[in-house]
Amino acid sequence: MKNFYDCVPELSGFVIFDLETTGLSPQEDSIIEISAVKVRGNGITEEFSTFVNPGFHIPEIASSVSGITDEMVKDAPGIEQALSDFTVFISDDVLVGHNIINFDLKFINKEMTALWGKALPNDYLDTLIMARRYLPELQSRSLESLSGHYGISYAGAHRALCDCKINYEVYKHLIEEMRHPSQAALAVVSCPECGNLLKKREGKFGTFWGCRSYPECKYTRNSV
Ligand SMILES: [Zn+2]
Repeated sequence: MKNFYDCVPELSGFVIFDLETTGLSPQEDSIIEISAVKVRGNGITEEFSTFVNPGFHIPEIASSVSGITDEMVKDAPGIEQALSDFTVFISDDVLVGHNIINFDLKFINKEMTALWGKALPNDYLDTLIMARRYLPELQSRSLESLSGHYGISYAGAHRALCDCKINYEVYKHLIEEMRHPSQAALAVVSCPECGNLLKKREGKFGTFWGCRSYPECKYTRNSV
């Protein structure tokens, strides 16, 4: 994984994506909606959105968050077709999303590995890490909190395509934070390899700094 967080990423284009799922566990739950927007220059040029039929009843708790019901996905493609269409749409673009390292990419890579024996090869940039790095003073860095912080409308949230568009607005603000980092942001201790934050961990030989992206990133250094 690439470090996009130490200086402003000069991306000529990228894709912002988001999923809706039947629950919070990438191991046990399934994808029911995949949406993405393609960004070129200063705006969104293409949209992608599909429901996914998970092949089982969507729990009420999941329907109550996203509003997606069994009825809405009954004629939708299964995960194989949906992911195949998604990979054509994203091509080799860098993928941008909120909390994608710990959530969305885990769902997608579980399915891709089961279907085709490999994970998505695309580089990715997680706006949650951007927010951790450049807005360390915020109590919450959910998409909703960041929207509130920047005065972006959160209407229609929790449906994937709408979340992509909200995320794009948040991304543009976060890029401005990167251009003019605060003193607090400059004091954040980050991983030189992937750009995520480091945190103190306890090991056999005492305390050390480890990357928050572990196990994806295995960077460590001695605690001093
Ligand atoms: Zn790292």
